Amino acid sequence: MLGLMQDWPLTVDRILDHAKANFPNREVVTRSIEGPITRNTYGNIWTRAKKVTGALRARGIQMGDRVGTLAWNTDRHLEAWYGAMGMGAVLHTLNPRLFPEQIAWIINHAEDKVLFFDTTFTPIVEKIAPLLTSVKLYVAFTDRAHVPESSVPIEAYEDFIHGQSTDAAWGGFDENTAAGLCYTSGTTGDPKGVLYSHRSNVLHAMAANQTDVFGCGASDVVMPIVPMFHANAWAISFVGPMCGAKVVMPGGKLDGPSVFELLETEGVTFTAAVPTVWLGLLAFLRENKLKPTTLKRVVIGGSAVPEAVLRAFEEDYGIEVLHGWGMTEMSPMGTVGKLLPEHAAQDRESQLKTKLKQGRPPFTVEMKIVDDEGVEKPHDGKAFGRLLVRGPSIAKAYFKNAGAKNDKGEALEKCGFFDTGDVATIDPLGIMQITDRAKDVIKSGGEWISSIDIENLAVGADGVANAAVIGILHPKWDERPLLIIEPKPGAQPTRDQLLKFLEGKIAKWWMPDDVVLVEKIPLGATGKINKLALRETFKNYKFPTTQAAE
Ligand code: ADP
Repeated sequence: MLGLMQDWPLTVDRILDHAKANFPNREVVTRSIEGPITRNTYGNIWTRAKKVTGALRARGIQMGDRVGTLAWNTDRHLEAWYGAMGMGAVLHTLNPRLFPEQIAWIINHAEDKVLFFDTTFTPIVEKIAPLLTSVKLYVAFTDRAHVPESSVPIEAYEDFIHGQSTDAAWGGFDENTAAGLCYTSGTTGDPKGVLYSHRSNVLHAMAANQTDVFGCGASDVVMPIVPMFHANAWAISFVGPMCGAKVVMPGGKLDGPSVFELLETEGVTFTAAVPTVWLGLLAFLRENKLKPTTLKRVVIGGSAVPEAVLRAFEEDYGIEVLHGWGMTEMSPMGTVGKLLPEHAAQDRESQLKTKLKQGRPPFTVEMKIVDDEGVEKPHDGKAFGRLLVRGPSIAKAYFKNAGAKNDKGEALEKCGFFDTGDVATIDPLGIMQITDRAKDVIKSGGEWISSIDIENLAVGADGVANAAVIGILHPKWDERPLLIIEPKPGAQPTRDQLLKFLEGKIAKWWMPDDVVLVEKIPLGATGKINKLALRETFKNYKFPTTQAAE
């Protein structure tokens, strides 16, 4: 027997329709690429998104065609986002921090027909245009006066949408239609495309905005610092218009002073970013003896929250930290570390320990940990295992069947779960802790050492700006940890000071065998430590003890 409820496909155009109907005057404020702060509204964004649809259709773009964007978080990006998705085209966000050749490879693989971009990225566009095989139309997110002189035929976005009507149709297709495409950064092998559907995006946004996850409402002022090209700005581009929050788009300026200025002038209550952004903001606040006055909650994810960052936000500024874990393949939210009633009676230090874990899954995410044979490990907070996930907003295959694990082209384990590539524990309350990427875990004498745990502690030592731990081959133990430190400007922490700082905080056999200082720890395209580059730099490194033994 079927239920007798209405058929209302979960397509993302309904999100912006809802915002227009209920919050037409709620603001979307942008630090524009041209410079000034601009003020827009959901009502006007709806109107202009309709014009984008009209303009795309006029140029022959159809359902299923891929529309690329190489752009920061701005209102225009949001318009193009809904304009393309609303008509059933696939909005493909590109990460401008990748090498130009990689961007060109991804655009060709996705067969993007249109490329929208910020003028900041004109040099990249000029460099890759001769390599592109499918792009027919280059549109700069600006007006005619700001279109740069170029060898590439560039149209101004304002001209592109000018004169289009606002009655272009949206939706009316199956909710499983593709809506968005985002490539993983491909730290191993070629990048792989994750193809979100309308349904997966709508369900994911609703899951991400549950009370114990983001918990945003119409009284919030939400600033997605995490870029729209980093896994859908962690759903904020959907959550904002869904709940009627005012949205503040920071454009391309993500340094401490610029972020702080917007937080204060716009009264931001909720924001989200990777730890590196917060390290920049916190350093700026400390140096200038400043304090955010309106910010209530921050989501920190993409890599583990360093203890020093957690303490600074919660203890110095009274701002709640929500530690999030996820990945492009999960849309991206996997877990968020909101405390449970069971933690309420604990002392503050125990609570902080729990908050440093990656958290628990919202409804729509199922997870388990298994050994190499796929046998489930206990949820005792101690046993490590490969972390597998399942849910309606989690990838089952990559675009064009990249990385397929079965003959249906799916990238799933035999049990139907997706392998995250992370190694984790799950405690009896269901709280997950990442102990490493499967490929970064240090295998010492048959046991696993978590590089992340040591890094998180080390960034709390005096004079440390950033810390990384990698495994170095060892004749007796297979691998031993090497601690790599980027000192704060002017600081010179010594090996002994750093090891002394770690002593007693980690197991003896986890203690790094050596410490080296480097000018800069290399970061990858999404702001995470680039371990591949570090392993390359230190490939001939030998521990002093190993050298002595030889
Ligand atoms: P990529 O893997 O291509 O860098 P993603 O943004 O999809 O891009 O990265 C997902 C991975 O990032 C996760 O599998 C995990 O290893 C890591 N990660 C994300 N959030 C956290 C976190 N809070 N703590 C530790 N690792 C994290």
